[in-house]
Amino acid sequence: LVQLYIPLNFMGMLYREIKQALIDIDDMFRIIEQHPEIQDRPGAQPLVVREGEVRFEDVHFAYTSARPILKGISFAVPAGRTVAIVGPSGAGKSTISRLLFRFYEPTSGGILIDGQDISEVQQASLRAAIGMVPQDTVLFNDTIGYNIAYGRDGARPEDIAEAARLAQIDGFVRALPEGYDTPVGERGLKLSGGEKQRVAIARTILKAPPILILDEATSALDSFTEKEIQDALERVSRDRTTIVIAHRLSTVVGADEIIVLDGGVIVERGTHADLLARDGVYAAMWDRQRKAAEAMETLQQTQAQE
Ligand code: ATP
Repeated sequence: LVQLYIPLNFMGMLYREIKQALIDIDDMFRIIEQHPEIQDRPGAQPLVVREGEVRFEDVHFAYTSARPILKGISFAVPAGRTVAIVGPSGAGKSTISRLLFRFYEPTSGGILIDGQDISEVQQASLRAAIGMVPQDTVLFNDTIGYNIAYGRDGARPEDIAEAARLAQIDGFVRALPEGYDTPVGERGLKLSGGEKQRVAIARTILKAPPILILDEATSALDSFTEKEIQDALERVSRDRTTIVIAHRLSTVVGADEIIVLDGGVIVERGTHADLLARDGVYAAMWDRQRKAAEAMETLQQTQAQE
């Protein structure tokens, strides 16, 4: 039996390895398929970021010609400022960030960084200038240190630890038996949504890009984690041009401008105070979220008393 067990066990191991390799390859193809290579124009020059102003000028976009997604979007994020984009699911918020990365090109209109049309510049230079903290970070099957260091080539261990400290994940990593050498990802330690997001924040701090896109998680985090992430995000976005795709209205209160997107058009825009005074879509969203937050607090208090 033992003679049979060893080869079977080995085959099982081999099967798991091959399956994981196939999943990795599958993921890679999915990413490539989603973003068919957009070519640099002949003679494209590198993007030169001076101040970091981002401008969308009458941008129209459709994934398929039958269904327009963005219908004439214009806004500017002055250098170092924060613009928040809010709106219902499917409004086209993430599409705006995909266009800024130039994963897709607008059907018409233009996207400019410091006056340079992003369709005219070298893509590598464009992507180097933009940092992204996505909703759900996919980790590499490697150590947590590697996953943070991925933000910058040749990052030193002390830089990695400093970035992790600023992203409020350093304490968590140090408490792991293998510290920064702990394997994570599919084959290693599974991290929670909030932990993964802090890894992404640490990575972005190391990359130190002049322009930042934050795609807030929709999933509920406990209020302690939420506060930690909020602080880390505030730190990373300070003095950087930031576009935040916001799901929590608490994030947008301090934004320089809030853009309310619905059905691919901007239906309202202004500061938090402007929009509340207007008593329109945003004010209704705010009211709904405030009531939901109050209900959650009452529930937590009741649970705590039980
Ligand atoms: P959410 O808040 O749910 O993330 P969103 O406002 O970010 O939503 P987008 O992801 O920008 O919405 O999507 C806008 C619309 O475009 C949706 O109706 C979606 O179904 C569609 N869409 C998104 N990606 C693609 C794609 N690759 N191909 C075709 N349609 C797509």
